[in-house]
Amino acid sequence: MITFNKPYLTGKEAHYMYQAVSSGKISGNGMFTKKCQQYFSDNFGFKHCLMTTSCTDALEMAAILCDIKEGDEVIVPSYTFVSSALAFVREGAKIIFADSYSDNPNLDADKLESLITERTKVIVPVHYAGVACDMDRIMEIANKYDLFVVEDAAQAVDSYYKGKPLGSIGHFGCFSFHETKNIISGEGGLLVINDERFARRAEIIWEKGTNRSEFFRGEVNKYGWVDTGSSFLPSEIISAFLYAQLENLNDIQKQRKGIWNQYQKGLIDLAAEGHIELPELPDYATNNAHMFYLVCSSLEERTQLIEYLKKHNIQAVFHYLSLHKSRYYSEKYEGEELTFADKYADRLVRLPLFYELTPEQVNFIISKITEFYKK
Ligand SMILES: *Cc1c(COP(=O)(O)O)cnc(C)c1O
Repeated sequence: MITFNKPYLTGKEAHYMYQAVSSGKISGNGMFTKKCQQYFSDNFGFKHCLMTTSCTDALEMAAILCDIKEGDEVIVPSYTFVSSALAFVREGAKIIFADSYSDNPNLDADKLESLITERTKVIVPVHYAGVACDMDRIMEIANKYDLFVVEDAAQAVDSYYKGKPLGSIGHFGCFSFHETKNIISGEGGLLVINDERFARRAEIIWEKGTNRSEFFRGEVNKYGWVDTGSSFLPSEIISAFLYAQLENLNDIQKQRKGIWNQYQKGLIDLAAEGHIELPELPDYATNNAHMFYLVCSSLEERTQLIEYLKKHNIQAVFHYLSLHKSRYYSEKYEGEELTFADKYADRLVRLPLFYELTPEQVNFIISKITEFYKK
């Protein structure tokens, strides 16, 4: 079976985890946590970085920092993972779901302004497949209405908008190191704080509502409970694992991009003949090869394609169901039909994409997809 994903190990993970354990400090905010945070600052210019136990946690921290109150409205694309919305729902927000573009799963910035009301507080652009949302448009609208922007950059490590790293443009950026992402630590995440005003409070929320970090830096002579918060910081063992991945980021990205390009080349004729749609990258976006997907012409066709590939031992998957139609939120949803979110929910298929996938396997997958459409 060619699985959809296979977590890649660089070889150094166990070594660094052993180093963390033998150092005698395995709780959070130690040497490896700082090394990871430093890596992100050095390589992407992020000003303030806090490692978290997941992207979901990073989003929850952002929701707390935006000071969401009962009834505040938060604009989130419907075609995304649950966490992009859930983190704000937990703080009492009402979610206003946005539609995707017709030819790109990202939030349609041209329709964004029509969703804004007096209660709107936050916009959550999700960089789907690591492809940038139109951040200039989004930031312009956010500035006009005095809104916060929380980038869900879970899939977007090492990807750029007009040369700016994703996660560095909004007030906050949230990354994931779940085992299905480009660089991994099993579960793991990162909160990037781009607005200086939030830096101090973020650290307190991160450390269970205490000013412990200030105490350890010698800025105060005792620490205690000063704010809300939770245990958002990962143990050193997780950060040690992640650090091994970060050291190999360039190699991992090169490998993934090779696979992505091979798929693109191998499937381009099927797209030209109108059988499928392939990802379209806007001029302002780069490709971090987080995912390779294609879009079928109907739900039935997608079901048959996935079945056909499974019969040939290839595991292809679909994922998100539109959140505005979810069991948890559909009754609360009062907005319009979201045609293009539903389009991607019904018709998008993700193909296997992981470091150790061989060119022969990719060719085999391409040949089976071609066979499905030509038979
Ligand atoms: C993976 C993902 C998340 C959740 O990340 P976790 O680290 O698993 O919490 C959130 N948003 C998007 C768009 C994702 O792809």
